[in-house]
Amino acid sequence: MNRLEFLRTLSFLPMMSSAMNLSALQKLSNELEATDKMPVLFLGHGSPMNAIEENQFVKGFRDQGSAIQKPKAILCISAHWETKGTYVTAMDMPRTIHDFGGFPQALFDVQYPAPGSPDLAREAAKLITSTDVGLDDKWGLDHGAWSVIKHMYPDADVPVIQLSLDYTKPASYHFQLAQELQALRSKGVLIIGSGNMVHNLGMVAWNKLNAGPYAYDWAIEANDKMKSFILNENFQSLVDFKRQGKAFDLAIPTPEHYLPLIYTVALKMKGDETIIFNDEPLGGSLSMTSVKFG
Ligand code: ZN
Repeated sequence: MNRLEFLRTLSFLPMMSSAMNLSALQKLSNELEATDKMPVLFLGHGSPMNAIEENQFVKGFRDQGSAIQKPKAILCISAHWETKGTYVTAMDMPRTIHDFGGFPQALFDVQYPAPGSPDLAREAAKLITSTDVGLDDKWGLDHGAWSVIKHMYPDADVPVIQLSLDYTKPASYHFQLAQELQALRSKGVLIIGSGNMVHNLGMVAWNKLNAGPYAYDWAIEANDKMKSFILNENFQSLVDFKRQGKAFDLAIPTPEHYLPLIYTVALKMKGDETIIFNDEPLGGSLSMTSVKFG
């Protein structure tokens, strides 16, 4: 029985005997039993078109997907779900949200029908004690999540939930909150931060966007500095991004694409190997640089 069939079965529980009831519930709790430690990822998602294009970046996502043990579920922190307060998606079947405009119809036609995981949503909400986490039944999967996850798990057979970014809070708050999710790494959950380390849409050289790697000096400087903070585990400097000077100010004009990186670094554990991939600048003011710990 796959997960979806199992969840459907659960909805018939009131008609079943109490013995059946108990065994079904035991099965549910066993789904989040201990596993080998899962890696944690930061994926630079770039343009929504990456969802339907074939290029080196989507190959990078695919290669990472096939290099790691298939997760029981995914928890994604996307740049594209900002809220006041913190929420997790808790519906059985999240919708595919096309949260962009001006792209070809083929992109709007994409559906990514991965199931949700209400039990993982409840578990994540329980683990986070620094704030109340709301269970959301309205959001779904935005393109920060589905445009990258679909390359890793094209069959949409791994349940996905999203955790929102509270836009009223500083990076230090996000770092602490992320650390409270640590236990999920040992329960078969793949945690993915999806954003872009260097992301200044206002300064994109649109005529250079499809012309291979191209970066302004400040973009290279910021990207290199971020990578060295990651490799040297100087996470406090990443949290203090507003005190890193002009290059960082230009790379992070607004924090939503950067903060998912803070979640990823906060979840690094002792003994994790660090791999940096898709490390290329685009259009002058964007970088696709992605990170894997584990
Ligand atoms: Zn984005």
